[in-house]
Amino acid sequence: VLRTVLAAQQGISRAGVAGATALTRSTVSRLVDELVDSGLLAEDEPMVATGRGRPGTPLHAGERPIALGLQINAGYVAIRVLSLRGRVLTERLETGDFVGSDPARTLRRVGRLANRLLREVSGEHVLVGAGLALPGLVSNESNVLLLAPNLGWSDIDLGPFARRLGVTEADLVIGNEADLAARSVATPAPGRPGPLRDFIYLSGEIGIGGAAVLDGRLLTGRHGWAGEIGHVCVDPDGPPCRCGSTGCLEQYAGRRVLLEAAGLPADATPAQLAEAARAGDPAALEAVDQAAWALGVALASVVNVLDIPVIVLGGHLGAMADLLRPLLAEQLQARVLSAHWVPPVVQAPAGDPAPGATGAALHVLETVVDNAAAWVDGGDA
Ligand SMILES: [Zn+2]
Repeated sequence: VLRTVLAAQQGISRAGVAGATALTRSTVSRLVDELVDSGLLAEDEPMVATGRGRPGTPLHAGERPIALGLQINAGYVAIRVLSLRGRVLTERLETGDFVGSDPARTLRRVGRLANRLLREVSGEHVLVGAGLALPGLVSNESNVLLLAPNLGWSDIDLGPFARRLGVTEADLVIGNEADLAARSVATPAPGRPGPLRDFIYLSGEIGIGGAAVLDGRLLTGRHGWAGEIGHVCVDPDGPPCRCGSTGCLEQYAGRRVLLEAAGLPADATPAQLAEAARAGDPAALEAVDQAAWALGVALASVVNVLDIPVIVLGGHLGAMADLLRPLLAEQLQARVLSAHWVPPVVQAPAGDPAPGATGAALHVLETVVDNAAAWVDGGDA
């Protein structure tokens, strides 16, 4: 019943739930009452009657369970509080240079900000956990960040960080930022599928993260490390990469590389780069073309391997998608074997500046949906 309500794009009535689940109206009503009492569901005002029968009352996800979504990237930290409805209750994004930052200091700062935000939300909410998105490889068996090359962080046990947030170690989830950003596209609110079910996600930051989603589910690989499209080799004779390889995609399309190639300062914005390219600046145009070519070469290989011909560009790549698209599409058309039958599509969703933080909170809230019975039985206390 909970999943049926959450999956509905608009409010659904008890009768609608009964129709969708093949449960009797009385069973649905009893379960809905329990879910409303526990705060997992909420009821709107009754709808105006439009025909025969009693008017229905639209049901929605409740707002009692909330989760913290955190993201630490090379250029910013973001903290959000999301409710089960997928609504952002409060948020904070602070820019800064976190390349080579001291992990303990940065985590203390994020913890302080998170606690400040939690104090802003009312006491009716229950914090169910926290999710942290990081730009690197994360162990899927423990809360250990193995390596984040662009932060310069490695082997960091984030278990103790949970206490700083007021949650247990078991209620802290850490994940790769591109994986979590992709999750926010696949499932924009807990239990509610987004319009895209199959896509390759690329997150453009200083590095480039990637993820593949099929049937709305992340393809994580055996250890959770799949999707490192930023380190797909575009040219073995290309420039060295922080990962130890050479000619990786992020050495052509990463934010810092792009800005440098365009002759712009390292703190310039993607909008400034796009503006310079649109104004016909030769260095900016050359940098954009180089990035589009490299993206085409790398993504064509990914599409050939996975048969997922929809590309979603996030971060700075999304902000300059219209500039990248012509050459990128041309490369995909030329290099993807199946392009003749299903032409690859490049999309750029409108700018959430920290989709990893959103995805991290959504990931935590999904656990409430998975364990709804325990929550109704008083697991929230
Ligand atoms: Zn690399």
